[in-house]
Amino acid sequence: MGVCPSARMAMLRDNFTGLLRLWARPDVLTCTSWGAPIIWDGTFDPAVAQQEALQQNLTIGLTVFAVGRYLEKYLARFLETAEQHFMVGQRVVYYVFTELPAAVPRVALGPGRGLRVERVVRERRWQDVSMQRMRTLHEALHGRLGREAHFVFCMDVDQHFRSSFGPEALAESVAQLHAWHYHRPRWLLPYERDARSAAAVAPGEGDFYYHAAVFGGSVAALRGLTGHCARALQRDRERGLEARWHDESHLNKFFWLHKPAKVLSPEFCWSPDIGWRAEIRRPRLLWAPKEYALVRD
Ligand code: UDP
Ligand code: MN
Repeated sequence: MGVCPSARMAMLRDNFTGLLRLWARPDVLTCTSWGAPIIWDGTFDPAVAQQEALQQNLTIGLTVFAVGRYLEKYLARFLETAEQHFMVGQRVVYYVFTELPAAVPRVALGPGRGLRVERVVRERRWQDVSMQRMRTLHEALHGRLGREAHFVFCMDVDQHFRSSFGPEALAESVAQLHAWHYHRPRWLLPYERDARSAAAVAPGEGDFYYHAAVFGGSVAALRGLTGHCARALQRDRERGLEARWHDESHLNKFFWLHKPAKVLSPEFCWSPDIGWRAEIRRPRLLWAPKEYALVRD
C-alpha cells in the first residue's frame, strides 16, 4: 500500500527526531518505557516545534493561582517572565485565580496574548488552597478556559521563567520530572504509601516522581486529570485522610494509571538550591526560594 508523500515526510521526520533525541543526549534518559519522549535541551528543534504549532493555529492557556500573600510576592515576576519566555509567538491566554482580582498587577502583554482573572474563595489552610486547585481547574476547563484554549499548562506561581518554554512542551498530556527526585531510585520516591488513600502507590509501582508545579495537556486530557484528582481528594477528605504531598500525591497516582504522552526534564522546572548538575543545561523555569514563613500562615 502506498504512503502519501506528506505521511512519508512525517514518518521520516519522526524517525529523525527520534534519533536526534538519542544522539543528542546520551547522558540522560530520553524515552520512557511506554515510548513517551523525555524532553531535554538538545533533543528537539525549537523552530520545528514553533512551526508545527503555528500551522495548527493554537491557543495555549496558562493557569496560575495567586491566593493570599503569594499574589504580591510572586505573581508579577511570574507573568513578566512568562511574557519573555512562555510560548512566545503563539496565542496565549493567562488565567489568574485569586481572591483579590483588584490586586492583580498590570503586566504589559504582547500581541495575541490576553489575561483573565477568575475569583476564587480563599481557603484557610495553604494545603487546602493548593488542593482546591484541582476542583477549580476542573470547573474552568468545562467553562471559558476549556472553550478558548486547545492546550493548557497549569503552574505554581512561586517560580519564574529563565529561558524559552515553547511548543516543544505541548502534548496530549505532559508531566514534569521533579528536580529533587529525578535521579533517585523508585523505592525512595515520596509517593503516598497509606493504602487507605486514593493516592496510594504500592511498593514496586510508580514510574517517576512528577512535580505538581507544572503539568499540562489538551483540554480533554486535563478535564480527565483534574476530575480524577478532585474526586480522589474529596474521597480522602471524607475519610479524614490527607495525602503526603497533597494534590501532588494524587497527580502522581493519576500519571501512574494514565501515562503522560510527554515528560519534561528537570531543566523545565529547576531548583537553584540543588546546585550545579552537568545534565541541567538550560533551566527554563526556576523555583523561587521557599520562604514559607513569609507566605504561609
Ligand atoms: N498557593 C497560593 N496561596 C497559598 C498556597 C498556595 O496561591 O496560600 C498556590 C500557589 O500558586 C503556589 C501553589 O498553590 O505556588 C502550590 O503551593 P506551594 O508553592 O506553596 O507548594 P510547594 O511548591 O512548596 O509544594
Ligand atoms: Mn510551589
